[in-house]
Amino acid sequence: MITEIPIQCSPEEAVDRVFLLDFISKQVVSNDGMVDFRWKRRSIDARAKHIKIQGILQVAIGENIPSTIREFIFIPAVKNTKIVHIIGAGPAGLFAALRCLELGLKPIIFERGKDVRERRRDLAKLNKEGIVNPESNYCFGEGGAGTYSDGKLYTRSKKRGDVDKVLELLVHFGASNEILVDAHPHVGTNKLPQIITAIREKIQEKGGEIHFETKLTDLRKNGRLITDIQLNNTEWISVDNLILATGHSARDIFELLHRNGVKIEAKPFALGVRIEHTQVLIDKIQYHGRLHDEYVPPANYSLVAQIDGKGVYSFCMCPGGIIAPCSTSQEEVVTNGWSPSKRNNPYANSGIVVSVEPKDFPNSEDPFVCLNFQKEIEKKCWDLAGKSQKIPAQRLTDFINKIKSTSFPRSSYQPGIESVEMDHVFPKFISTRLRSAFIDFGKKMPGFLTDDAVIHAPESRTSSPICIPRVPEKLHHVQCINLFPSAEGAGYAGGIVSAAIDGMKCVEAIHSAVPKD
Ligand SMILES: Cc1cc2nc3c(=O)[nH]c(=O)nc-3n(C[C@H](O)[C@H](O)[C@H](O)COP(=O)(O)OP(=O)(O)OC[C@H]3O[C@@H](n4cnc5c(N)ncnc54)[C@H](O)[C@@H]3O)c2cc1C
Repeated sequence: MITEIPIQCSPEEAVDRVFLLDFISKQVVSNDGMVDFRWKRRSIDARAKHIKIQGILQVAIGENIPSTIREFIFIPAVKNTKIVHIIGAGPAGLFAALRCLELGLKPIIFERGKDVRERRRDLAKLNKEGIVNPESNYCFGEGGAGTYSDGKLYTRSKKRGDVDKVLELLVHFGASNEILVDAHPHVGTNKLPQIITAIREKIQEKGGEIHFETKLTDLRKNGRLITDIQLNNTEWISVDNLILATGHSARDIFELLHRNGVKIEAKPFALGVRIEHTQVLIDKIQYHGRLHDEYVPPANYSLVAQIDGKGVYSFCMCPGGIIAPCSTSQEEVVTNGWSPSKRNNPYANSGIVVSVEPKDFPNSEDPFVCLNFQKEIEKKCWDLAGKSQKIPAQRLTDFINKIKSTSFPRSSYQPGIESVEMDHVFPKFISTRLRSAFIDFGKKMPGFLTDDAVIHAPESRTSSPICIPRVPEKLHHVQCINLFPSAEGAGYAGGIVSAAIDGMKCVEAIHSAVPKD
């Protein structure tokens, strides 16, 4: 018999097998003797002074605990298997390829960047020398922005699709089983590259193809069909179905579509700063004076305020993390954050961003209106911080008091920081809301508003500033019936899990439209 028992206990008890078996024995009577169990769901409740772990134990009496993941069967692609061309090997592209192989279609992926190993060298150059390779960076290359991301997998909303399947596939390809249990699953930047490599090897083993350093540079249309695509400005190949999973940083893709008369639209996004505190401070605030240890993880936070009709909120909070240089070309700077699986860096960083909408600008009908604003801020930060990969920074309290900072605590941002007043970086509609929100956050989390917190600019690649419109359910572009704009770059996902789900959904839409033999 399999049964489920809700439980609330201390963090120490939650890892104590003797305690848990004793707890179970008080809830269930077993004549079969053999009782086994595992955590099915687990979360931390740190609202009260004494931190609790709450969740559900799955208990097996007289039988074995069932497997946590379903069986995945990938069908080998043979000579006459129908082909789906996929642009981009991020989470959307890779999971689309896996779904192709489940449905008996052959995926061929073209990826502008390099494989994970080669890509690592370009990241080292970016961090140490401030040199950006526009084809191989934190956003471009095998695994897309997901590979060297933080790997938080917080999307639990079932309305997006089969979240469990994405998590189970990640476990199938090497992630820890714990991601199926924790309310806030986290893989960590150090573990993601192996998982991505294992996914690629499976795709290749089953007859799918992945071509690195191969960029989509143009396309040809005939009526409502994309007939051919151009690769690396030279070779043309014909396509039947094309999934465009190029992410939110492929600005050349938006230009390419627009140039070819494929409709794109401006889309709201969010922009602001990345704030860094010490992890010790965030632990003390969130855990009522306690520090993280072997029983409780480094603390996180999630903040939101409504200021003058706009949302201001924390984004991609990374406990024990690092602020990373995420620009995709030289004359711009961009921040984001990541952390290793142990979250053992002494810093806690998070984006704090203000919603930006097309109607904030006079030319709101221009599809590039939000993208141009994003570009402008990233370039301005590059200019103001000395035209390198250094970024503008200001102590939080100096920002509140409108003073230029004269000194800083250590920052985790490797290329370096430069003292710049954020009021010189952002237009008023951003900076005044950020200021008010920080004051509000200081009240919600006493201690957050401190001299030792530093804000870094810009946090600008939160989501795509452009949407590539598609037909609901059928998921093809509103004009081109064999073009499937997918995931984050097209405006249909925000994060690894939702991007993976959207990639798979596009394949399902193609499969259901393909005449069956
Ligand atoms: C530092 C960092 C930390 C992050 N942390 C998290 C996190 O903790 N949790 C989370 O859920 N998300 C996180 N994200 C965001 C997450 O990585 C993205 O939401 C996700 O990767 C989007 O997936 P995608 O497949 O839509 O696009 P992407 O991952 O952006 O992949 C697009 C791919 O397309 C390729 N491409 C672009 N143009 C072309 C072209 N013309 N030809 C061929 N290929 C092309 C790119 O090289 C890229 O590999 C983070 C991102 C970064 C950068």
